[in-house]
Amino acid sequence: VSKRLVAIASVMTGLWISTGARALADESCSAATAAGLMQSAMLDQHSFDLVSGLSTEVGERLAGTGAAVNARNWAINELARAGIEHIHAEPFTLTAWLRGAETAEIVGRTIQKLAVTALGGSVATPPTGIEAEVALFRTYAELIAAPEGSLAGKIAVVTQRMVRAEDGGGYRAANAIRRRGPSEAAKRGAVAYLLRSLGTDNHRLPHTGALNYDDKAPRIPAAALANPDADQLERLAAGGPMRLKLVLTPTERPNAEGWNVAGEIPGSEKPDEIVLIGAHLDSWDLGTGATDDGAGVGIVMAAAKLIAALPRHPRRTLRVVLFGAEEMNYSGPAYTAAHHDEAPHIALAAEADFGARRVYAVQVPAGVLKSDFARRAGEALAPGGAFIDYRPATGSGDDVAGLQDLGVPVASLRQNGLDYFDTHHTADDTLDKIDPAELAQATGAWTAFVYLAADCDVDFRAVASKSGE
Ligand SMILES: [Zn+2]
Repeated sequence: VSKRLVAIASVMTGLWISTGARALADESCSAATAAGLMQSAMLDQHSFDLVSGLSTEVGERLAGTGAAVNARNWAINELARAGIEHIHAEPFTLTAWLRGAETAEIVGRTIQKLAVTALGGSVATPPTGIEAEVALFRTYAELIAAPEGSLAGKIAVVTQRMVRAEDGGGYRAANAIRRRGPSEAAKRGAVAYLLRSLGTDNHRLPHTGALNYDDKAPRIPAAALANPDADQLERLAAGGPMRLKLVLTPTERPNAEGWNVAGEIPGSEKPDEIVLIGAHLDSWDLGTGATDDGAGVGIVMAAAKLIAALPRHPRRTLRVVLFGAEEMNYSGPAYTAAHHDEAPHIALAAEADFGARRVYAVQVPAGVLKSDFARRAGEALAPGGAFIDYRPATGSGDDVAGLQDLGVPVASLRQNGLDYFDTHHTADDTLDKIDPAELAQATGAWTAFVYLAADCDVDFRAVASKSGE
């Protein structure tokens, strides 16, 4: 009996191998091929090697600097090594913002240095700094409620805390404090603005990030306080009036050059239909941009390499775009403007820009939630520990938001972001924070999903049906 079982098992195994191999070569939209790609990605460390290369050889790479040129050249080289075709760099102009000195101290009844970092885009203080009384608000709403003129001559400080959450929702909810806070404070008369870092750690490393000045308000210098320093200010403010001195000396260089680096795996049947995957090459200058967004760069480049190596290219063209100035919001608008007319041919877009942890769910456009495509994707992702979310994608990375506005459907691969904002935009965003196994899993999920998106006969623009099924 056992001999017969062994014989049957070996015939079954043979059958599986032959059908499996045939599926890999011939069958399109194959869940088995997708699952196989995910397994392959999880067994190698190519994405980690890419992040390691970018964050080590280039290091920090602020848009508009010499490091950005090195990043562009690195990307062109690595795309070629991955077997990607049509590689090119699309130039655009930007105003480079360069960090200068940044110090803050409490002056008066006690003298204490504070850990601060300028927000990207901030104007400078006079070289000798600004010294003024502090107006402290524990929530952003309290700042907004302050009457016009009430902050005249003061330094406004908002110490609202960002909430830690797996999906990063706390960052989105608090974003206006950094982006809009400086102008809101200026409208009320403030001469400078400080916020508690948009970060979930308790280290004395402040988190930078861009601000957006409102044209209707004076431009005032703005910086982020490290979390413990915001705590300190809250305690001191409870004891009475307090003065603070702030020195920020950033500079700007207009008409600097940036690039979006792109390449393709031409489609085998529908080369004019494009599945676009991206990540951003630029980083803030404080760390080495390992998790933001070296990890995303590693994920999409490693996924493209695995797909390029398949015996047959997916039916649609897979395009990889490495955006050159996400942090200061230049690369997305530049790409959207340059590819405006092409938008109807972009079947789906997705950007990897949420760190290096595992992908636990994939959000797809509403119209395909109940499709055969979604069923196959779920089947392929399950062994690697990810599922198709029942909630549709509402957005992907910032660089594809402009395409989304033009009607391009987006997918969102959700990574565990519980600790992403501990080091995000700080000097601590370095390679040692990345777990190669988690990054390999994320790469696997991207590879499997993107292969299916490019090879399946699925219309991501389909309108969702309202019936239960
Ligand atoms: Zn990013």
